[in-house]
Amino acid sequence: MKGRDIRNRKACADQHFNRQQSLFPSNEQPDGGLRGSLQECYVVPAGKRRDGGTRYWCLRHRADATAKYGKPAHTCRAAHIPPFRPEDIFALDMNKYSGGIALWGAVPAVYDTTRLPMDRGIHVHARVTPDAKKEMDCTFRAVRIVNERLPEDGIAVSELDAIYYMVTSVFGYQMRQVTCSYCGCSHLDRDWFSVHPHRRHLCAGCGKHFSDTETGIGNPIVGVRDACGMGDHKTTPSKRRIKITQTDFPGGVQIWGSNPAFLWTNKRAEEEGIHVHAFRKNSDLPELDETYGEVTIDGIDLDPARVRVLMAQSALPFLKHRVRSIECPSCREPQFSVGEHAFTPTAKHTCPRCDQQFAAPGRLRKTIANPLPAILVRIAKKAPREPQQHDIDLMPETP
Ligand SMILES: [Zn+2]
Ligand SMILES: [Zn+2]
Ligand SMILES: [Zn+2]
Ligand SMILES: [Zn+2]
Ligand SMILES: [Zn+2]
Repeated sequence: MKGRDIRNRKACADQHFNRQQSLFPSNEQPDGGLRGSLQECYVVPAGKRRDGGTRYWCLRHRADATAKYGKPAHTCRAAHIPPFRPEDIFALDMNKYSGGIALWGAVPAVYDTTRLPMDRGIHVHARVTPDAKKEMDCTFRAVRIVNERLPEDGIAVSELDAIYYMVTSVFGYQMRQVTCSYCGCSHLDRDWFSVHPHRRHLCAGCGKHFSDTETGIGNPIVGVRDACGMGDHKTTPSKRRIKITQTDFPGGVQIWGSNPAFLWTNKRAEEEGIHVHAFRKNSDLPELDETYGEVTIDGIDLDPARVRVLMAQSALPFLKHRVRSIECPSCREPQFSVGEHAFTPTAKHTCPRCDQQFAAPGRLRKTIANPLPAILVRIAKKAPREPQQHDIDLMPETP
């Protein structure tokens, strides 16, 4: 069953690739899930809208192509996204790295005083033997995983699969493999859909709605992991502590929340906490590159849960500008929206300390509280230079 889903995914990619001329040089034909091109859209009618008009879909860029008044658009919503170049795709032969492989969805650091480019894609660590120094430590837009259990030319995971895997898992949801009943594509739930389980899905491959057998959140990585025979791995809080003075690191400091790797073949457990890079010089080799359980920067403590949640919140387009540091107007307690409130903007906040109900000030009525942005502003005041403002800018997808 699983083998069939994988083949379906590939077949679905081939079908869309070959309908028109290939998007890639002929010897670099990639597999399922990788597409995008600055070439012309390929727009077809894909069903009815709620108002009875026709919905149009671009099969080349896998995005909505309905223009005003229910007409087909000249360019779809995703036509501007640069295609994957061959060098953006890493072929990962699992048999070559018996020392262990780890893959994560990579998003921009929540705090970054380096001048390095923004991180985005799939972060890869791979070792040839367990004692070898980390052989691969890079970020790619896609990874083609090759091993003997998979179809001959492997199976691809794209940056969006990996980034939404991170988001969905940080907010505590399981994912499942959801396959389109019309075209066989493996479905990725993005943005709002990545944190709201649902049963009726909109297939990116063919643009049609289909119903799954269960309510859930779809991510193709689940199918890839099943096909590789991977289960969940253990995670353990890091016991390391660090105190940093930013002036010791003129090259800058970067901070990410840790999130479980979507592929992990190491024997030992994965450490959780706050991932820190710190640079003495303006180079791309950090002096510190480690995950810590406790991090203090210029005397200010960081909370791993808040870092992790802010990182996931910042990746979701539908939460843009809504995550703010909010204090209770009556007792001054910094608020932290948890559970569903961590991804559901609300007009009224209830202080857990004094029970006061209040509306947050600001232009947007509905907000989410996370104390971290205000803490990062305090840390930035002691930095040798301004932090970079990264925006991952994924495409919004809401019901
Ligand atoms: Zn298009
Ligand atoms: Zn489909
Ligand atoms: Zn869906
Ligand atoms: Zn690192
Ligand atoms: Zn209060």
